[in-house]
Amino acid sequence: MRLVFIGPPGAGKGTQCKRLVELLKIPHLSTGEMLRAVKRQDTALSRWVASYIDAGKLAPDHLVMRIVAQKLQSEECVNGALFDGFPRTIIQAQLLDDYLSEQGLKLDLALELRVVEEELIQRLLKRAQIDGRADDNYETIRERLNVFKTQTAPLTEYYAAQGKLERVDGMQSEELVFEAIKASVSRH
Ligand code: ADP
Repeated sequence: MRLVFIGPPGAGKGTQCKRLVELLKIPHLSTGEMLRAVKRQDTALSRWVASYIDAGKLAPDHLVMRIVAQKLQSEECVNGALFDGFPRTIIQAQLLDDYLSEQGLKLDLALELRVVEEELIQRLLKRAQIDGRADDNYETIRERLNVFKTQTAPLTEYYAAQGKLERVDGMQSEELVFEAIKASVSRH
């Protein structure tokens, strides 16, 4: 199964993705983590990537697609994958659809995790105190939420038009969110 997980920063995607990959036994492809791994190197590319992440802006679509495509070529992805934080723009969604269809593959499902904005800010500020991620400061959080609203949220329409969208209420307990996700997955 191939599924994309859409949700604003702080919605709880990371936590739910961990549970879901265990259940479905597919690899977890988080572009946020992939890009942070690039950022940790000390190269011209890593400094370029850092300039986007640290400002809360999206990295360039083709760069992200290239990194994802590299992962998808590995043996562990033959039976499916969970895309976390990707695609994040309509262009990325089209690039992914094109890439998969060239291989005779397709996405099965797009899950949208919904949480209201005030709650997201609270959660992200709390996370900032716990693990100190460089982009979890108030300014960058606002920018990431804004980027989500303008560039990523329109993806739900894109996938709804393909009949692949399932919405899950992310304001419930972790346990109930996971139950709702399982129910959505079993419908596809
Ligand atoms: P969150 O969604 O919680 O903000 P992520 O770990 O998914 O965090 O992403 C962190 C940062 O990495 C983003 O703000 C962005 O700069 C970059 N990034 C991650 N995924 C993508 C993507 N698909 N396209 C462009 N940039 C991305």
